[in-house]
Amino acid sequence: MLHCHEIAKSPDSYFTHFMEGLKKRNIGEPEFHQAVEEVAKNIVPFIFENKDYMEAQILERLTEPDRIVSFRVCWEDDQGNIRTNRGFRVQFNNAIGPYKGGLRFHPSVNRGILKFLGFEQIFKNSLTSLPIGGGKGGANFNPKGKSDREIMRFCQAFMTELSHHIGENIDVPAGDIGVGAREISYMFGKYKQLKKEFTGVLTGKGLEFGGSLGRAEATGHGLIYFAKNTLDKLSEGFKEKRCVISGSGNVAQFAADKLMEFGAKVIAMSDSQGFILDEEGFNHEKLELVKQAKLTRKPLSDIVEKIGAKYFNGQKPWGVPCDYAFPCATQNEILQKDAVCLVDNGCKGVFEGANMPCNLEAIHYLLSHDVLFTPSKAANAGGVAISALEMSQNSMRLSWTAEEVDIKLQEIMSKIHAQCEKYGADGNKVDYVKGANIAGFIKVANAMLAYGVN
Ligand code: NDP
Repeated sequence: MLHCHEIAKSPDSYFTHFMEGLKKRNIGEPEFHQAVEEVAKNIVPFIFENKDYMEAQILERLTEPDRIVSFRVCWEDDQGNIRTNRGFRVQFNNAIGPYKGGLRFHPSVNRGILKFLGFEQIFKNSLTSLPIGGGKGGANFNPKGKSDREIMRFCQAFMTELSHHIGENIDVPAGDIGVGAREISYMFGKYKQLKKEFTGVLTGKGLEFGGSLGRAEATGHGLIYFAKNTLDKLSEGFKEKRCVISGSGNVAQFAADKLMEFGAKVIAMSDSQGFILDEEGFNHEKLELVKQAKLTRKPLSDIVEKIGAKYFNGQKPWGVPCDYAFPCATQNEILQKDAVCLVDNGCKGVFEGANMPCNLEAIHYLLSHDVLFTPSKAANAGGVAISALEMSQNSMRLSWTAEEVDIKLQEIMSKIHAQCEKYGADGNKVDYVKGANIAGFIKVANAMLAYGVN
C-alpha cells in the first residue's frame, strides 16, 4: 500500500487521498470527518513546506486516537427499573500533557461525536500554551427529566468504570453539555471513594474541594476577551452593538454577562426548544432568570413573560438583525442557509463559543462575505485553560483569587490571538482558522517528532 506522501504530487492530491482514507477507516462518523477536514485543509499545505512532518506521518498519526474506551453504565431509576447507557472516553493524544477534555451527557453522544470533540481538543489545548493533551468523553444519557437522585446514581455508575482509565497525571476530564458542577461533584466523590485518594482528577470542582475560582465563567468570558482582541485590531468595539447568542447554558450565560459588561446589547438567547428576542437588551436581572431556569433544566419559554420578551418556538436566532453572533449551544447549529441569513441581516462577526457550531459550507460563506470569523478551538479555549490552572492549583495545594485567575485568562486569550495572527497573517487581515490550526499543530507535532516512532 502506498502512503499519502509517496503518491502526493501536490497538496490537493495529498488532501484528497488522505480524506478518502480517513473516511474509509472511520465509517459513519460525519462530525469527525468534518473536524479533520477543516484542519487538514490548512495542515496539508503546511506539511508540504515542512517535509519532516510529512515523512513522519504526523497528520495520519494525529488523526488516530491513542485509545477509545467504551463501557456499559448500569443504574437504577426512581421506580426501581434497571437502565443501561453507553459511556466513552476518547484518549486522543497526550504528546504534550495528560489527556484533558470534557464529559458530555446528551442522548446524541456517540463515538464519532466524541472523536470530533477529542480531535479538536488536541489543537485547542496546545493553543493555550499549557501542558495538556486532548481527550473527550461522555454518555448517551439524557439528564433532562431525571431527579437529582437519578443523576447521582448515574454519575456514580459512570465513574465506577471511568475511574479505571483516568488519573491526575493520565487523564483529567471536566464538564461539557449536560455536565456541570453538580455532576462533577458526584463523580469526584465517587472517584475519591474508589481510589482512596484526593487528587485533582476532575476539573470544574466545587470551591470547597479543589475547584478554581473563575472556572465556571472561563469559557464564556474567554470567548468575549478573544472577540475583543479581534475587534481591537480593527479599531472596533462592543458598545451598543447588537449581539445574538445561541444556547443559554454555561458558555452562553457567561458570554452574555461579559458582553453586557463591555456595553453590548444582548438581544437574543436560545435553547433546544426556541429563542427569546429582547429588543431592549438583556440586563443582569433578566440573565439571572435564565440562569435559574437552566439550573432546574426548564425551557426558556417558561420565563419569557417575566423577561417581557418575544419567544420563537422551534427556531434558531440567526435571522435576527445583529452586528455580532455567538453560537454557544452545539455543533453544526449554523449551516450555510443560516450563514446567508446572518450576512443578509448585517452580521459582521461570528465568534464560536460552542465546539464546531458552524459547518464547513457556512464558514466558507461567512469568510467569502468578509465576515470576521473565529473558530472554537481558539475562541473557546478559555475554559480548558482555566481547567489546566485548576490542575496547577491542585498540585501546588493552593488557590488563586478570582482576580488572579481572570488576569491569567485575559493573558492566555491574548497569547492565543497572537499565535493566530502569527500563523494566519493574510495581508492586513488574519485568517483565524488557518492561524489556530497551524499554531495548534506545531507544538504537538514537534513533541511527536521528538518521541520518534510510537
Ligand atoms: P450546557 O449544557 O450548559 O448548555 C448547552 C446549551 O445549548 C443549552 O441551552 C441547550 O439547550 C443548548 N443545546 C444543546 N444541544 C442543543 C441542540 N442540539 N440544539 C439546540 N440547542 C442545544 O453546555 P455548555 O454551555 O457547557 O456547552 C455549550 C457548547 O460549548 C458545547 O458545544 C460545548 O462542547 C462547548 N464548550 C463548553 C465548555 C465549557 O467549559 N462548558 C468549554 C468549551 C466548549 P437546553 O437548555 O434546552 O438543553
